Amino acid sequence: MTASTFAAIPRRVRPISPDDAERLVNVSPADWRSPKPRSVYHLLVLGAGPAGLAAARAAAALGAHVALIERHQIGGDCLNDGCIPSKSLIRTGRLLADMRDAAHFGAVPPAEMVFDFRAAMLRMRRITARISRTDSAMNLAREGIHLFFGTARFTGADSVDVDGLPLRFKKALIATGSRSMLPDVPGLAEAGFLTNETVFNLQVLPRSLLVLGGGPLGCELAQVFARFGSRTLISHREPLFLPLEERDAAQMVSDALARDGVEIHLNSTATKVWMEGGQKVVELVNDGNTATTRVEHILTGIGRVPAVQGLNLEAAGVAYDAAAGVHVDDFLRTSNPRIFAAGDVCLKHQFTNTAAASARIVVRNALFLGRERMSALNVPWCTYTDPEVAHVGLYVKQARQQRIPVKTFTIPMHDVDRAIADGEEDGFVKIHVREGSDQILGATIVARHAGEMINSISLAMVAGIGLRELANVMQAYPTQGAAIRQAADAYLRTRLTPLKLKTARRWLQR
Ligand SMILES: Cc1cc2nc3c(=O)[nH]c(=O)nc-3n(C[C@H](O)[C@H](O)[C@H](O)COP(=O)(O)OP(=O)(O)OC[C@H]3O[C@@H](n4cnc5c(N)ncnc54)[C@H](O)[C@@H]3O)c2cc1C
Repeated sequence: MTASTFAAIPRRVRPISPDDAERLVNVSPADWRSPKPRSVYHLLVLGAGPAGLAAARAAAALGAHVALIERHQIGGDCLNDGCIPSKSLIRTGRLLADMRDAAHFGAVPPAEMVFDFRAAMLRMRRITARISRTDSAMNLAREGIHLFFGTARFTGADSVDVDGLPLRFKKALIATGSRSMLPDVPGLAEAGFLTNETVFNLQVLPRSLLVLGGGPLGCELAQVFARFGSRTLISHREPLFLPLEERDAAQMVSDALARDGVEIHLNSTATKVWMEGGQKVVELVNDGNTATTRVEHILTGIGRVPAVQGLNLEAAGVAYDAAAGVHVDDFLRTSNPRIFAAGDVCLKHQFTNTAAASARIVVRNALFLGRERMSALNVPWCTYTDPEVAHVGLYVKQARQQRIPVKTFTIPMHDVDRAIADGEEDGFVKIHVREGSDQILGATIVARHAGEMINSISLAMVAGIGLRELANVMQAYPTQGAAIRQAADAYLRTRLTPLKLKTARRWLQR
C-alpha cells in the first residue's frame, strides 16, 4: 500500500465468499492508506467506475498527475453490481436453457435436472474477482494514480473535499455514475425490494420474483431467474419491452421471455404492495383491470438516475438537474470551464462503452486542448437476453425525424446457414442505408450472438465502409455473421438495373 498520511479507511462490506474477499481486496482494500496529496492535480476524477478508471489511466499514462476518488468500490456498477455479475449469470441461464433443449440436439436430457443456485453465484463471484484484478487499487497506484477512498464533494471552483481531506485541481472529471431509480409504489419500501445492488447477493434462489420494469436490466434478469427455476413475472408500463428498440425486435424478446415461462404483464403498473403471510402481495393494474399476485421478492429495474446528490455542485458552479444529471456540451464541458463530466452521470446512453469512450474524450479535451465531440461517436449497444438485441446508429424512426430517406435490408436468421446448423434461428439482421447510396445509417440485430455481430457494422460505419464494400469482404464459412454479408448482397442486387442486366446478357450471348 502507498505511503500514509491519513488514517486507514474502514471498509463497510463483508465478503460473501473467498472469491468475494479477493474482489474486495482489489476494489476496496480495508487497509488502504491514502497517498500524500499533491498541492494541485492536473486531473482530479470523482468516481472510479468505467468512466473514472478510463480517464485516470489514460491521463496517468500520458504523464499527468491524477487523483482518483472512490466512495465505494473500484469498477463501479459495471464490475460489482452490473455488467459482469449479470453476464456471468446469463451464461448459466443459457446453459440451462440448452440442457432443457438437449433432445433437439440428440442428447438425452437428464431425467431430473438439478440446478445449484449457490454454485452459480459462486461462479459469478469467481469471475468478478478475477476481472477485478485488472483495475485493482494496487495496480492503479503502480500506474502512478493517487487513489483516495472516500466521498468527494466540491468546496469551490477548483477544490474538493474527501471526507475532510482537501484536494485541489486544474481540471476535474465528474464520473459518479448512476443509481437505481426507485419506483414510487405505496408499500414497496416497507415490504422491501431488490435492486441491482442487492440481487447479486442473494444466497437462496427466490421461489418467486416480480421484476418491475421491462428495460434491458429487467428483461435480462427476468429471463435468467425464470431459467433458474424461479416463478418469474415481469411488469412493464408500456405495450412492449425495450422501449428504445424497434418494435419487431422488442416483440421477439417478449416471445422469448414467454417461452422461458416468464409471466408477462405489459401495459401494467404496480400500484400497491403489502405483506401477507410472509409474502409480498402486489396489486397490478392493467388497462383498468386490477389483479394481485404474491411473490417472495420484487426486483426493481425501472431505470437509472444520475448520481449527483451530495456533490455540492453549486459550490463549483456546475449546472445539473436530478433527471438528466450534470449538464455538458458536446465537448463534455460543464458550466465550469475547469470541470468536465463523463459516463452515466451526464449521458443519455448509460453503458460501459460510452462511459469509457466519453472519459477518453475528456482527457484529450481537458488536458490537451482537444476539440473532440461526443456526438461524433458511433455507439453500439446490446441487451443480453436470449436472443440478444443489438443496435448501432439511427433507427428508422430517427432517420425519418431527420428527413433522411432510408432503405432497409433485412435477413432473417432462419436464412443463415450457421444459425440453422446451430439451432439458433430466432432473429434477424436489419441494416438501414441512406436511400440511393450504400452508406450505413444504422442496424438492429436480433440473434443469439447479436452483441458480437453488431461490432462489424459499427466498424464499417466508423471506417466509412458502405454495404457495397461489405459485400466484397470474404468471411469464414459458415458463421452467423454471414447475415451481414447477405444483407450486403441484397443491397448489391438492388444495384442491378435493367440496363446493367441487359448489357450483361448481351455480353454473355456474344
Ligand atoms: C444490472 C446492470 C447490468 C448492466 N449491463 C451492462 C452491459 O451489459 N453493458 C453495458 O455497456 N452496460 C451495462 N450496464 C451499465 C453500466 O454498468 C454503466 O453504464 C457503467 O457502469 C457506467 O459507468 P460510470 O463510470 O459512468 O458509473 P458507475 O459505474 O456508476 O461508477 C461511478 C462510481 O462513482 C462512485 N461515486 C459516486 N459518487 C461519488 C462521490 N461523491 N465520491 C466518490 N465516488 C463516488 C461510485 O461509488 C461508483 O463506483 C449495466 C448496469 C446494470 C445496473
